[in-house]
Amino acid sequence: MSGEDDRPLRPATRVVEGGRRKEWTGAVVNPPVWRASTHLYADSADLAAGRPNEDGQFYYGRRGAPTQWALAEALTELEPGAAGTVLYPSGVAAIVGALLAVLKSGDTLLMIDNAYEPSRVLARTLLAPLGIETRFFDPLDLDGFAAQFDDRTTAVLLESPGSLTIEVCDVPALAAIARDKGAVSLLDNTWASPLGFPALERGCDVAIMSLTKHVGGHSDLMMGSAAAGQTLYGRLRAKAQAMGHVVSPDDAALALRGLRTLAVRLERETSSCIEVAKHLSQHDEIAHVICPPLEGSAGHELWRRDFTGGCGLFSFVLKGRNERARARFIDALRLFGIGYSWGGYESLVIPVDPARARSATSWPPSGWDPADKFGIRLSIGLEDPADLIADLERGFAAMAA
Ligand SMILES: *Cc1c(COP(=O)(O)O)cnc(C)c1O
Repeated sequence: MSGEDDRPLRPATRVVEGGRRKEWTGAVVNPPVWRASTHLYADSADLAAGRPNEDGQFYYGRRGAPTQWALAEALTELEPGAAGTVLYPSGVAAIVGALLAVLKSGDTLLMIDNAYEPSRVLARTLLAPLGIETRFFDPLDLDGFAAQFDDRTTAVLLESPGSLTIEVCDVPALAAIARDKGAVSLLDNTWASPLGFPALERGCDVAIMSLTKHVGGHSDLMMGSAAAGQTLYGRLRAKAQAMGHVVSPDDAALALRGLRTLAVRLERETSSCIEVAKHLSQHDEIAHVICPPLEGSAGHELWRRDFTGGCGLFSFVLKGRNERARARFIDALRLFGIGYSWGGYESLVIPVDPARARSATSWPPSGWDPADKFGIRLSIGLEDPADLIADLERGFAAMAA
């Protein structure tokens, strides 16, 4: 979408404008919730003529209706270089759908070692039985990555920062190597969203997000997306239709509502996250704070080079201590809910023990004191950061008691 003078609109404006075609919204601001399985045809001749298999064509509910089309279009407008976006019933469904669109029996997938754990699990439970081998690589070892390609390697699954351990890797370099080797690169871009990391512009071929997190933003829906340029978008869409994927119009409307405040929420979460992480980094009970937007944190330099924003998700590692002490810390918190997921308006906490979900790297990483291994992940929400810091101090007091 362009302005009057054809200058492209800035991302925060596209978040507000995207997908609001008059033909979908009518006289109101938002597209209504079109609850529809059957789409009606005018007469037998209309039915016999059929409908083109394109976005924005009424046909049957599985191809969506204006509520879903508006969400997909808004996401496409946020992703420079994308020709279209496919919606999936969850983030994991988006990862599976995208992988199956680019892999076939006999192929090899290279997966980043700090991938979201269910991505690792599906390599074993879903891809392996289909005859697709997965090999894991160290996200920070570019040469090791390049050395893993052979003539069966057709796809690479990246994620940055990585799940739980939040390492930022050199995505443009990894994607360039993959392209050079003739492989498709897919990025799980849930942490940054296109506002913080325009994945296709940085060289990736497919940009995947769990919309459950930032786009939903209110911990009340599950959804995923994958965006790509024309050719790959066609493959994603065909595979998703073959698998029968469709998202409900009610959830699409909720996701659209969340999307409209995405830029302002991410900005606030990032600044609060930096404030909380800075406080933690000065604490004697803490050995490591891994928060890329925080100056001095691991990953900060690459984050500053490649990213245009952050979010509220980061991890830290206790100095020594044990599992019981960590549980005392977590259980003493009143403002941080204990639960999976993140990116909602409310803050969350979970313990982090990534050792079982790594094979090409180790936890704790080499160079660290091996006693420093009890991690905690925080998702910073929209509360006042001073209250969150006071809450964390309650955790430290309980841990020391
Ligand atoms: C949560 C998450 C997913 C999966 O999304 P769901 O919507 O929960 O299926 C994928 N990738 C990352 C990085 C996530 O945090």
